[in-house]
Amino acid sequence: MPLLTSSGDEKLNWAIVIHGGAGSDPQNWNDAKTKIREDGLHRALTAGRDALAKGGNALDTVELVIRILEDDAAFNAGRGAVLTKEGKVELDASIMDGKTRACGAVASLTATRNPINLARRVMTETPHVLLAGQGADQFAEQQNVPLVEPDYFLSKARFPESEPHFGTVGCVVLDSDGNLAAGTSTGGTSKKLPGRVGDSPIIGAGTYAANDTCAVSGTGVGEEYIRNSVAYDVAARMRYANQSIEDAVTTIMHRTLKSGMGGIIALSKEGKIVMQHNTPGMSCGAADSSGRFDTHLVLKNGGCPPSIENAEAGTTSTANTEISKLLLQQVKDWNQGDIDAFMKPYWNSEQLTFSSGGKVTRGYEKTLNGYKDRYPDTKTMGTLTFEKLEFQPLGQDAMQVLGIWKLARDNEPLEGRFTLVLRRFPEGWKIIHDHTSKTPDELVQP
Ligand code: ASP
Repeated sequence: MPLLTSSGDEKLNWAIVIHGGAGSDPQNWNDAKTKIREDGLHRALTAGRDALAKGGNALDTVELVIRILEDDAAFNAGRGAVLTKEGKVELDASIMDGKTRACGAVASLTATRNPINLARRVMTETPHVLLAGQGADQFAEQQNVPLVEPDYFLSKARFPESEPHFGTVGCVVLDSDGNLAAGTSTGGTSKKLPGRVGDSPIIGAGTYAANDTCAVSGTGVGEEYIRNSVAYDVAARMRYANQSIEDAVTTIMHRTLKSGMGGIIALSKEGKIVMQHNTPGMSCGAADSSGRFDTHLVLKNGGCPPSIENAEAGTTSTANTEISKLLLQQVKDWNQGDIDAFMKPYWNSEQLTFSSGGKVTRGYEKTLNGYKDRYPDTKTMGTLTFEKLEFQPLGQDAMQVLGIWKLARDNEPLEGRFTLVLRRFPEGWKIIHDHTSKTPDELVQP
């Protein structure tokens, strides 16, 4: 079995993450509900762990674990599914193989006992990806996937109409061959319109797996997950923007999705585990071959890493403090004669714009070289100060900063104004545009 190195020091060769839905605050649950949820998570995670420890493969483990959760009436999937406005169940599920990107999904099932088993059959036994409604239940019959009578679904008896019942289930797995898989199953949102389909059976919205990046399962307001291609976006951020799995999930949870929308579980190809929610709670759990085994009904700070959580406090004053620190550091670096360090807060992109004396320079390298040409030695660089900073937020993730710069030098002191535009990237604030002028203000030649 190949050993995969996690981002930490220990070696991982398999890992599993599960969720049992995001939503209400477990503090408001009674002891019985808390216990059935905890027991359910524990049972499913134990089965998944044992299967993987014996060398079980990712897809089989996802199917096994989700089936267990579907049979558990504590969750909103299979047996415990919520009801539509008309008091019926309509079940959705999907599964995806990270190795081949084969996938299968079912929607609006009314009689299939385990939607996840049928989703797997759609993947392996048909040329299609998604079967819905009557045709899908008929396909279950042809495939000998068990059908049940409507009274099998217990939700109505267990959960009073007044209490919204959360508990979509999902599972992501990395097996000891390095293969990823993901699956999700749900009864959808309670009192949904008949025929409504959420994100859980939509590949790329509620479920996604690809061996080059990660496996993802989401839970929450499905319409938002579909609009933002949430599960695929985690992989895309890793693939194209080189984000870590944690940054990718954090960005989506805190920037793309509004607070209260749901949660995500994700697992990278290296076995890095991420569980996050922006709702009061999310039932979830994780285990891996290093011996990790934990289940939760709520995660501290929603599972968000502390650095982003601080920035996420989101107040303008937090942004002002962060940007002030950045500019102060720039001044220090300049005064130590280190132009490369001074340039660090600039956006390392061809699209960076720097304008000075009516001349516009585009691109990071050109800007850096421009500075080096104009200030060839520490004598020319002099001593820099920034004064009278004014912060003007441009929405949540951008800021305009106005100020005065002064360069004390023996022979030719300089002084001028600047206008900076900064954007908040997952790794922090960056200057994306810098305009400086000398005072009295230069006139740009027409
Ligand atoms: N995402 C599911 C749906 O919209 C519901 C949930 O996860 O609670 O169907």
